[in-house]
Amino acid sequence: AHDAGEALIAIEDERLAHNYHPLPVVVERGEGAWVTDVNGKRYLDCLAAYSAVNFGHGHPDLLAAARDQLERITLTSRAFHNDRLGPFAEALARLAGVDRVLPMNTGAEAVESAIKLARAWGYRVKGVPEGAAEIIVMSGNFHGRTTTIVSFSDDPTSRDGFAPFTPGFVAVPYGDAAALEEAITDNTVAVLVEPIQGEAGVVVPPADYLPSMRRITAEHNVLMIADEIQSGLGRTGATFQCDNTGVIPDLYVLGKALGGGIVPVSAVIGRGDVIGVLHPGEHGSTFGGNPLAAAVGHAVVTLLETGEMQERSRVLGEHLHARLEALIGRGVLAVRGAGLWAGIDIDPSLATGRQVCEALLARGVLAKDTHGSTIRLAPPIVVSKEDLDWGLDQLEAVLAEF
Ligand code: PLP
Repeated sequence: AHDAGEALIAIEDERLAHNYHPLPVVVERGEGAWVTDVNGKRYLDCLAAYSAVNFGHGHPDLLAAARDQLERITLTSRAFHNDRLGPFAEALARLAGVDRVLPMNTGAEAVESAIKLARAWGYRVKGVPEGAAEIIVMSGNFHGRTTTIVSFSDDPTSRDGFAPFTPGFVAVPYGDAAALEEAITDNTVAVLVEPIQGEAGVVVPPADYLPSMRRITAEHNVLMIADEIQSGLGRTGATFQCDNTGVIPDLYVLGKALGGGIVPVSAVIGRGDVIGVLHPGEHGSTFGGNPLAAAVGHAVVTLLETGEMQERSRVLGEHLHARLEALIGRGVLAVRGAGLWAGIDIDPSLATGRQVCEALLARGVLAKDTHGSTIRLAPPIVVSKEDLDWGLDQLEAVLAEF
């Protein structure tokens, strides 16, 4: 049969930077947990754009908010006020139980903003000598792609070829609270942590890790910054993965699902005395806090206010994990995760993660490998139990084929 996608893939191959290796499917539309390719074939989306589409493709409330705002005004810059930003920040702060919001666009920008905030707080409030601030980061971290962020990555694919690197970061093993405490000096201003490491393969630290980190950082007057860009906003069965561990960080970094999969919306949110260190002109973004982003972000917050999404993710997640656990020994070595989010280690003697994802694609399921033999599943939270079960049936069938 004629494949309408081939020519489009060929154009991408010729005209785009080769910084991605997409699976060979060309998506044309999406609705809820499903997308349709240019040949009319339907796929269950089990990646949800790395959790940016937590509420499904084309969620009616989010589309309505976007459409309505498109007709009014989309961009003012923050040289002026707009009527959407304040109410969005108010709603987000209430949902998260925080004081203040610093709006940006992409995840990496929000991480960069958190780094700048932590350094400025260190010099202006904690009294660290100018230029000496240290931020503790974790082995296996993923926080984005800017030159400063890749400076503290330990993944050679992210780092190699992009030196010189930004100093001021100290890495410790993920999940080891004692190592963290040992690494703290008088110049430590912050600890930056993913409550679950997404890109590393949905790595869940020991249950007492984040609570210990909270206690240690508070004792040493060090900021705890939780990068919940991938783990937050319903993915793990709670508003934040920190909620699941009973921890309140000083700053949360949010992105991805905050824009509902419609527009890039990110933010650093948290303590007013930390975010309050910035003065006019010291930081900003032309698009950060724009009225379209604020309208969509506000609609996302409204979806999360009832707790229904979080509950759905928790309940469906238990089902997902029970079914995945049953695959251990049948092509699966280990399963990790929380809520509707799973990292699945495939037996590398059977197949690579990529091969499993290609076989899933042929059966109408979109998933993405990471780090060799791990695949992750993160379907939109609006997925039905029947559809989720169908997707898992396909995974079972694929594993039986190898
Ligand atoms: N932080 C975490 C935990 C992420 O998972 C990601 C993206 O995968 C980022 C930061 C970077 O976000 P963005 O790609 O929007 O810059």
